[in-house]
Amino acid sequence: KKKIAVMTSGGDSPGMNSVVRAVVRTAIHFGCDPYCVYDGYEGLVQGGHMIKRFHWQDVRNWLSQGGTLIGTQRCASFFERSGRMIAAKNMVLNGIDALIICGGDGSLTGADKFRSEWPSLLQELVASNELTEQQVAPYQHLNIVGMVGSIDNDMSGTDVTIGCYSALDRICQMVDYIEATATSHARAFVIEVMGRHCGWLALMAGVATGADFIFIPEKPRQDDWREEMCNLVKCHRDLGKRKTIVIMAEGAHDRQGNKISSEMVKDILADKDGLALDTRITTLGHVQRGGSAVAYDRVLGTLQGVEAVRAVLEATPETETCFIAITENQIVRRPLMKAVLDTKEVAKAVRAQDFERAMALRDTEFAE
Ligand code: ADP
Repeated sequence: KKKIAVMTSGGDSPGMNSVVRAVVRTAIHFGCDPYCVYDGYEGLVQGGHMIKRFHWQDVRNWLSQGGTLIGTQRCASFFERSGRMIAAKNMVLNGIDALIICGGDGSLTGADKFRSEWPSLLQELVASNELTEQQVAPYQHLNIVGMVGSIDNDMSGTDVTIGCYSALDRICQMVDYIEATATSHARAFVIEVMGRHCGWLALMAGVATGADFIFIPEKPRQDDWREEMCNLVKCHRDLGKRKTIVIMAEGAHDRQGNKISSEMVKDILADKDGLALDTRITTLGHVQRGGSAVAYDRVLGTLQGVEAVRAVLEATPETETCFIAITENQIVRRPLMKAVLDTKEVAKAVRAQDFERAMALRDTEFAE
């Protein structure tokens, strides 16, 4: 009987509980024993009660709950080979055959490193008498499948990451709340949303709420952004709009790479010699991560969780390590490391202001 473990790692995102539920129940459906690893790689390193056998009813009512009920942590020791060695030992001691990891590109990078080192980790464990040849014999290949949980929608090779539509929905709700009071007082609001390297949330929220102006990392503003913004806001006000909404991604900057902060934008809108708008700043912060997942993320987490278990069961030692993506509305398996490397290249290209390259990489079609 195969033992399949699932974990959530890195930043939490709504829909992760749907993933865990789907993996647990699909594993049982296919006659396997599901396990959950608590707190991401930290649980794998700690072992013991952090790796727990799960049953059908253990994930009851998980679809509607936000965050991740099996916890997530950043784990410093997993960056070290020594930490990964302890993790390997705990996997073998618990008889885990396969690991499904739901996290961001960092977590999936760690997963790929773990898998590539696996045979040498086992050899070292045997050489140092931590495990015997007999103990490691059944576990020569580490079967790993990745899934992408991220509110930023910042992963290459997939159209949507689990959690981004919930975060977007939350942002839109909050902007709607703010709009009511903004209109009442004819105020301007600068609303800061998450997104250091990826402006998807800010861009989509801007479209969905009819914001007056947005700032995203992928479109650093020209030197005259102050005039551009003020002209546009004035134009909207002249047309009778009583409120002004500016949406800022955290990673907003100008073409020189200087950060554009909410304070700067506020000061410009409030300038007595300019528009002189009564302007407030709202930083949405962690409400963007909270609350229950929207239907889309529940469905995506569920369908991808089912596919992840299938991928585990169909894998052979020759199979390339994959993650589960969605492209053109199809749930598909994609090579894991290519997506991770492309994602890192995108971040680099955005920092270097090479946006054409960034966009091409983000949309990369997997040629094969
Ligand atoms: P995310 O998965 O959301 O991108 P992080 O980048 O914080 O989040 O990664 C989560 C965890 O994954 C880290 O705390 C660490 O334990 C593991 N990890 C990330 N990158 C690596 C790496 N290069 N090598 C080994 N482990 C890694």
